[in-house]
Amino acid sequence: MSFRFTDEQLAPATPLSAMTGIGRTGLAALGGLGLATVADLAFHLPYRYDDFSAVTSLDRVREGENVSAVVRLVRVAGRRSFGRRLAMSEAVIADEHGELGVTWFNQPYLARSLQAGVTYRFAGKVTRTRRGLRLVNPLVERAEIEAGYLRPLMPVYPTTRGMSQHVLRKLMRRLEPVMHGWPDPMPPAVRARHRLVGLADALVGIHFPENWGQERSARRRLAFDELMRIQLAVAKLREMREQTNAPAVSFDEAGVKAFVASLPFKLTDDQRRAAWTVIKDTGLRRPMNRLLDGDVGSGKTAVAAIAMANAAAAGFQSALMAPTEILAKQHFETLLRMFAGRSERLALWTNAYKRSAVGGREIDHHGKAATGELQASVAAGEADIIIGTHALIETGLDFRALALAVVDEQHRFGVRSRRLLAEKGGLEGLTPHLLSMTATPIPRSLALTVFGDLDLSLLKEKPAGRRPVRTEVGLDEAGRGRAYGFVRAEAAAGRQTFVVCPLIDPSDNLGSASVTELAERLRGEELSGLEIGVLHGRLKAAEKERVMREFSEGRLPVLVSTSVIEVGVDVPNATAMVIEGAERFGLAQLHQFRGRVGRGVHSARCYLLPGATGDADEVARRLKDFAATQDGFALAELDLKRRGPGDILGERQSGFPALKAAVITDVALLAEAREAAAEVAGTLEEPENAALKNYLAVEVGEVHLE
Ligand code: ADP
Ligand code: MG
Repeated sequence: MSFRFTDEQLAPATPLSAMTGIGRTGLAALGGLGLATVADLAFHLPYRYDDFSAVTSLDRVREGENVSAVVRLVRVAGRRSFGRRLAMSEAVIADEHGELGVTWFNQPYLARSLQAGVTYRFAGKVTRTRRGLRLVNPLVERAEIEAGYLRPLMPVYPTTRGMSQHVLRKLMRRLEPVMHGWPDPMPPAVRARHRLVGLADALVGIHFPENWGQERSARRRLAFDELMRIQLAVAKLREMREQTNAPAVSFDEAGVKAFVASLPFKLTDDQRRAAWTVIKDTGLRRPMNRLLDGDVGSGKTAVAAIAMANAAAAGFQSALMAPTEILAKQHFETLLRMFAGRSERLALWTNAYKRSAVGGREIDHHGKAATGELQASVAAGEADIIIGTHALIETGLDFRALALAVVDEQHRFGVRSRRLLAEKGGLEGLTPHLLSMTATPIPRSLALTVFGDLDLSLLKEKPAGRRPVRTEVGLDEAGRGRAYGFVRAEAAAGRQTFVVCPLIDPSDNLGSASVTELAERLRGEELSGLEIGVLHGRLKAAEKERVMREFSEGRLPVLVSTSVIEVGVDVPNATAMVIEGAERFGLAQLHQFRGRVGRGVHSARCYLLPGATGDADEVARRLKDFAATQDGFALAELDLKRRGPGDILGERQSGFPALKAAVITDVALLAEAREAAAEVAGTLEEPENAALKNYLAVEVGEVHLE
């Protein structure tokens, strides 16, 4: 765009490409952050501040302290270091109490532009160097020239390559005038009742706070708006659901009791309660939307099986969707055993597998005929329980009478998927009931907000005979040695190990390079002489299946895989879980990995081997917290406090925009936002509220778990 606005002409809707002084790379970097307009930029919020609010005297600085001081520059000079490759500027500053040395790396121009004898404002961190305490890479401004850039609380923004903090801060400064005049669509009555500062004050206060009090009230206002948006979206989902009907599945009490009695184990109380609730829900014409949440191994599949058996007895079909082919196949085989000796017909439908079974015995489809025969049996309603991947909705299946959809660890299942299933379900105008199963422990606080339209059943109780998995953190080479020593000992005793490998390079999103490299290393060093199987996203389905089968049949002592591929697989003989790069995973996720072992009779161990990313002390603390508890829900709360909901849900998975200002555990604010959402919900369609509606709108698309 050639036309450019002056800063006075900027308005919320102005595209950033029309601002002066942003080059092509800058624009691309901003685009990468999802920022296209002035409004986008203004709502790009600092995630922390460097606190320079305390004015320091130079004789009392301490290591690690942030120093802000208006002081005289005694002398300044440039020099080169490290084989003359690194340009440095060095200075000495002084106040009436003392002197302090200053070093800037890679900023040779400072030595030329700063003048001895002049007073500047400095803000930076005191660092211990070989020459004692110095201020390293401080920000500097000459008060009378650039006044206003340096702030008592310097905002620190999320950013990306090609966009420095400095440039971002300067861009924000240029938006200050437009922020001051920012229109506030929130009705004054709502603002007054909930003690909210105006939107203009909130924006100015969050980017340029004079003090923490101002920052707090600014953030509270912006957080309130975010939570209100979520509450409105949740209300809309609920409304959409209440406008649809589901088939009412009658309760075959005798049949269900017989099925439960036929299981090779006694249900836990939690399982019994969950199954009963699901059966009650599916008996209503209101579509069920229930989340069954329980640790790996808590027995979610059995709960689903009971509901599916009940649906079959009432003449309805059920579908069970798993995130991967391996898991779909494992579910099929598990259910095949549970339904052995019964009359229900089971089908497996994924891209790679097309199988079916009755009474625990497989039906031979003779190769290619499987696809057509399976399609026909599903369409005719002969198949009662259809297990598969997303292929169930994406490829040519039509159901006869689908009443219940069970989604296992499926994060891409949302409003759209549900609509598609309803269309293919064969029951005119009726939506199937939905049971989502997850091993990700979802804290109550989160369930109430993001999942506000979701009913929750928890399986907290472990089936009898499960023992805690002893967990160790290996912070150094000795720790690694202990981990792989245990693996060797277990292998010698005929037991098996999972090794989880993080994705190191984002371009390697299928994990083939990371997994291959780690497996090579282990073959050459820690585990030489042991056979090691690999699983990653680039392998063909047949190859994955071969490796998984070898592992689950106990013929492969060690399996190295990415973090996604083997979610949920059940190998009771596996007694060791080694997690490489453990600091890259959230605690709830680590807990899921740990749950892969300790399912059999032998005691199991989990080893966390952090890599080199992150703050070593912080990583060690976090992983030790993890090792000390086996309670998935407690770990999820810790994750939530420390890193926000993105870690639990995945930002994209949640289907809601990431929260920037709000802390989702702020239950008090949440309650107020819910109240405000209810107050305005009915008025949003009125023409005078168009701006408010627009401001509070959220795209409710593929919302995770609805
Ligand atoms: P989840 O899906 O919650 O991880 P599964 O449903 O796969 O757990 O169950 C894990 C294992 O525990 C399966 O082998 C299952 O047969 C078994 N199991 C389920 N419920 C019980 C129970 N109440 N008592 C003993 N074993 C159980
Ligand atoms: Mg499972």
